[in-house]
Amino acid sequence: MNKKGSSDERIAILGAGISGLSLGWLLSRLGKPVTILEATDRVGGLARTFEWHGVPCDIAPHRLFTHDQELIGMIRSLVPLREHRRNSRILMKDRVIQDPINPIELILRFGPKTGARLVWGFLARPRLPEDSFEALALNRYGKGLYDFFFEPYTRKMFGVPPSQISVTWGREKLRSSGLLDVIRRHSKTFFSTFHYPAEGGYGRIAEAMHARIQGEVKLRAKVSGIERVDDRVTAVHYQQDGVSHRFECDRVFSTLPATVLGRMFGEELPLRFRNIQIVYLYLKRPRVMPYQWVYFGDGDVVINRMAEFRNFHDPEVETHDTVLCAEVTADTDRPVEDVLDALERYGLVARTDVDDVLVLPERFGYPVYDRGFETAKARAETLFGRYRNLHPIGRNAEFRHIEVDEDLESALAIVRRLYPDARINE
Ligand SMILES: Cc1cc2nc3c(=O)[nH]c(=O)nc-3n(C[C@H](O)[C@H](O)[C@H](O)COP(=O)(O)OP(=O)(O)OC[C@H]3O[C@@H](n4cnc5c(N)ncnc54)[C@H](O)[C@@H]3O)c2cc1C
Repeated sequence: MNKKGSSDERIAILGAGISGLSLGWLLSRLGKPVTILEATDRVGGLARTFEWHGVPCDIAPHRLFTHDQELIGMIRSLVPLREHRRNSRILMKDRVIQDPINPIELILRFGPKTGARLVWGFLARPRLPEDSFEALALNRYGKGLYDFFFEPYTRKMFGVPPSQISVTWGREKLRSSGLLDVIRRHSKTFFSTFHYPAEGGYGRIAEAMHARIQGEVKLRAKVSGIERVDDRVTAVHYQQDGVSHRFECDRVFSTLPATVLGRMFGEELPLRFRNIQIVYLYLKRPRVMPYQWVYFGDGDVVINRMAEFRNFHDPEVETHDTVLCAEVTADTDRPVEDVLDALERYGLVARTDVDDVLVLPERFGYPVYDRGFETAKARAETLFGRYRNLHPIGRNAEFRHIEVDEDLESALAIVRRLYPDARINE
């Protein structure tokens, strides 16, 4: 029976990452208690924070970037935020350069040969049919900048060459529409400031949502199956502490990766996620770098990005220790050694400076927009769309490369669509 709008509607939310928690928080504000089932023993998912040697550590750098004042206001109602001036760089070919890439600087810093290649490549840009990220980057920037930066960086990020990545990736993610935009930095997606919780880590947002949820957040509750009758989901099966449970429900929001949910419906969806390894280094010394994060552009360096969490707080506060967090996207079975090699090469850290190391693997780091992923995504939407009371929401559930503000936006949109008469008030 559809209990749309009734207060005794039994609502299951699968996953207690930021999407599941956003849904739980918003529905609680409508007076609708929820039951959240989370496989691990903590909330926050990819946007969680944990303390290590007394330093709040995120899963790689997490920053809030949005121009949407409603979303900023909603998050501010949960946690005090501080606005920071962005201070990031790109490390490449043993130099520190501006982020985003500035071709004028490249020409000046990397010598006349590289400069000539960049300028000539740009002037002789091809006009290829835009059927891959490679074609899009070549058309916009030319072969010089493509070979210099886009090819090695994309390969490191996704494990395949840009010719196998969808043009959608470039359209959504490239920070500019052409070389001139890169030079002028007039791109609308380049941001010079960002918000971050004034205290603790990014996970404070998830923790604050968790604290406001009406109903129950069941931890160590791994969803294993979905029961359905005709066009409706009727119950969710989960395992908790070795015991099987069945939860009858009227509505299900799933934030699980689309492939995981697909398997519960007997389908192997051909969608690919990039696994990442996050390497944390603890050093008993003051800050290592003045930047909040740096990118590593070289194809032979396994690190994609590295953050120093101390720089997400007041830079004037003196500290006697620090944590570096290197996000390793390249395939390697010796992540720590490779990270240390890279940091020594750039003169940032000596091996002997490192007092402790931690490696966290994340199986579902990035949805990979392979060429043709749209077909697989449409198949997932058709599969899940058969059930009127099933709603996949969030980054990996919708297979969209989105951030926390967009996860919240997605949760807000579905809640407003399902309950158009309800007002979301504190
Ligand atoms: C390296 C990296 C950097 C990022 N940087 C930023 C940034 O700077 N700013 C920003 O805003 N965002 C950033 N993001 C994106 C942001 O982290 C995500 O958009 C957001 O955390 C996704 O939340 P989610 O709840 O949709 O998914 P998840 O966080 O993946 O949550 C899903 C939850 O479901 C649980 N789960 C999985 N399977 C089961 C099961 N069978 N049963 C029960 N529970 C299950 C998982 O344990 C998890 O808790 C970054 C992401 C990554 C990977």
